[in-house]
Amino acid sequence: MVPPSEPPPASSPETGAPTIDAGTLAVARRVKGFMPDDEGLALHRAGVLGAAVGPLLEIGTYCGKSAVYLGAAARAGGSVLFTVDHHRGSEENQAGWEHHDAELVDTRTGRMDTLPVFRRSMEDSGLEDVVVAILGSSTTVGRWWTTPLGFLFIDGGHAEDVALADYVTWAGHVAPGGILAIHDVFEDPAGGGQAPFRVWQRAVADGFVPVETTGSLRILSRPPARSGP
Ligand code: SAH
Ligand code: MG
Repeated sequence: MVPPSEPPPASSPETGAPTIDAGTLAVARRVKGFMPDDEGLALHRAGVLGAAVGPLLEIGTYCGKSAVYLGAAARAGGSVLFTVDHHRGSEENQAGWEHHDAELVDTRTGRMDTLPVFRRSMEDSGLEDVVVAILGSSTTVGRWWTTPLGFLFIDGGHAEDVALADYVTWAGHVAPGGILAIHDVFEDPAGGGQAPFRVWQRAVADGFVPVETTGSLRILSRPPARSGP
């Protein structure tokens, strides 16, 4: 029996059918990362809506925690998730920084390498056929990207210039009616770094419409294209 404290799995707005099964959700919950379950489920639900518009793309894979929530959304919507990361960690993941994890260091070189763990997360969640890993710097990949997106999730480096560069490089690819999600948005500096909040402010100024906030996760949508002359 599911304990009453467990949030129910997400379900399709049209059919009411579950969009993430218990096994996949269990993997999402146990994979290492930076995505509380309530935010992961909100991300998942937004991903299901975005999947109806076009492919999903995530910046910041790490060990694949959010990629499980989003990969399940891609599967439910008959879409695909691209997830971009160089897998060398952000500044804040390096040795001596707050979010460092010594288990994610390649002992051969002493450098961070989250790719092997990510691969296991996809295997364990059964999402290898809907999640496509792109190994590289987000701005390098974005420079050559041309496909309109139904859903974009920005969760890469949190330094001011890095976060803004991700937004500037990728936001233009969100299709009309598509969704933009930004993680680690803290309006109050006491909560955390301000870069994602600046990105959110910039997105609103650019015409993205805020639709939902769950913890530090902000969901926005790009208004649908106006029909007619
Ligand atoms: N979404 C993850 C957490 C991402 S942590 C989760 O659910 O747990 C941020 C990730 O962004 C790190 O893995 C880091 O390697 C990656 N990253 C930071 N800057 C990047 C850049 N410029 N290009 C590609 N990946 C980057
Ligand atoms: Mg994050």
